[in-house]
Amino acid sequence: MRGKGVILKIYDGVSASSGIAIGHALPIHGFGLNVPRIKVDDDELENEILLFKKAVEETKEELENVKTKIKNDIGVEESAIFDAHIMLLDDPNLIEKTIERARNENVSIDYSFSETISNLVEKFRDLSDDYLKDRANDIQDVGKRVLRNYLGVSISPELSKTSKDIIVLAHNLLPSDMAEISEKEIKGIITEVGGETSHVAIMARSMEVPAVVGVSDILSNVSPNDLVIIDANNGKIFIEPDKETIKEYQEKRRKYVEYVKSLERIRNEEAVTRDGKKIKLDINMELANEADMVNSHKADGIGLFRTEYLFMREILPSEDEQFEIYKYIAQMIYPKEVVIRTADLGGDKFVSHFKIPEEMNPFLGFRGIRLSLEFEEFFKTQLKAILRASTLKNIKIMFPMISGIDEFLEAKDIVEEAKNELRDSGVEFDENIDIGIMVEIPSAALVSDVLAKHADFFSIGTNDLIQYTLAVDRGNKQLSYLYDPLHPSILRLLKMIINNAHNEGIEVSMCGNMAGNPNFTILLIGLNLSILSVAPSNILEIKKIIRELSYEECKKIVDESMKYNDVKSIKDYYDSVNSEKLKNVLFDYFEKE
Ligand code: PEP
Ligand code: MG
Repeated sequence: MRGKGVILKIYDGVSASSGIAIGHALPIHGFGLNVPRIKVDDDELENEILLFKKAVEETKEELENVKTKIKNDIGVEESAIFDAHIMLLDDPNLIEKTIERARNENVSIDYSFSETISNLVEKFRDLSDDYLKDRANDIQDVGKRVLRNYLGVSISPELSKTSKDIIVLAHNLLPSDMAEISEKEIKGIITEVGGETSHVAIMARSMEVPAVVGVSDILSNVSPNDLVIIDANNGKIFIEPDKETIKEYQEKRRKYVEYVKSLERIRNEEAVTRDGKKIKLDINMELANEADMVNSHKADGIGLFRTEYLFMREILPSEDEQFEIYKYIAQMIYPKEVVIRTADLGGDKFVSHFKIPEEMNPFLGFRGIRLSLEFEEFFKTQLKAILRASTLKNIKIMFPMISGIDEFLEAKDIVEEAKNELRDSGVEFDENIDIGIMVEIPSAALVSDVLAKHADFFSIGTNDLIQYTLAVDRGNKQLSYLYDPLHPSILRLLKMIINNAHNEGIEVSMCGNMAGNPNFTILLIGLNLSILSVAPSNILEIKKIIRELSYEECKKIVDESMKYNDVKSIKDYYDSVNSEKLKNVLFDYFEKE
């Protein structure tokens, strides 16, 4: 029953930008554009093609303007989204395919365009990688924008309505809609689609507006002006809550604001434990334009640059193109360092450029260094580009998916070949560039004593190490209960890898998601890890925890945890000390008081 004083409905979604908001609903409908299949004759079509090309140009101009606006109002990183959009419109394939199809089938240009966009979107949606899946939204957004210009449909008039304490609810929001939203005093954002890496999420985070995405079917159950609570820390939405819930969340919101202030206060501070152990906090990044986050987030460097996204496009980037990107990053963060991981293609990441037969188990198949060693020219091109960019001496090379010493030495030989070719052409590079490996396959962990004699550094990739050790697909939600970083086998492997690295005097860091999860900071510090590479948005929280800890105490907690043989006992013990230690530090914990 619907009515005041009754919690109408509680919805769950994905927390995209943390915070708590209380406000009034502004539902925005009508973002989809359905284009019917209409037959047209040749003359009509040629006319449509001219108008279509004009609409594409108009859209580019519009996007340029939005980009400048976002750059000035929000930041360079966020504005880069629009570069990708503009690039898409510059792709002759998209425009040519649209025109070709319309001519071949004698259908209207808008229909042909919407079909071309839909096919592309579907291709991306089918990929299992979350980041790429979310790129499907970009394509759809650009498509809708062009269609709006072509058809002369005006953009979301609802957004121009202003009232106080607005919470926007929509099926999806275009980045340019987000730009409009950023102008108003919006309290929160809820969308029915999208994931953590979608643009709504990325932009909501930089606007510091609480947002929950991926909330199915909420639009049809909310009316304009309904009271809405967003608990974006826990991905929860309340529509028309009762008085107690409102009071409870007003108090939570007050505490959360205090918490955020306490995080801001340490932005310029060091990540050092109370007993003086300095922890290097790096960031992981996927796109070149994210490099200046090192500076804005006061990180110590880039611990993992996942280069595979450079290769997920129609035409592979040339050595020169790659060189420019690596050079840009190295210059942007100098004198801080960047670890460039050679392409970890395969698995769930697009390899259409390479003729590889379909695999039953792609994660156990042609992936990472295996693929690079097979396609040597491709590998060498990347290595040469990295080497050429290394003249500032702040680049390190890292190989993914190394299973043992043979593979590592083979890969190093190719680095030598690349170096020789550059020397022969008189090209400068860092002669002493460090070469390290991801330790993410159990076999590598088990021979890490030997690998440490040949590698300049290790970086532990827990995302894969856990999946391969426990034989649990990292993306399988049904099995996620088994994917446990606190499994005794994982603790033993971590200890082994770290000790073996230290015994040989090489650096060891962790760049898997475990490093950025505040629940494991005590464990990782206690295991004597002193470099953590995390998502930029985790930096402050992890730093805050580190500054509250004593290394000596963390060591004791690890020793105690490792006395247990089963996951449940480890968890019972670890979770209880962890929540005790973090209760006045981490919001989630003092929330549970
Ligand atoms: C990992 O496996 O932990 C890792 C950082 O690499 P990716 O997530 O790119 O496989
Ligand atoms: Mg990995």
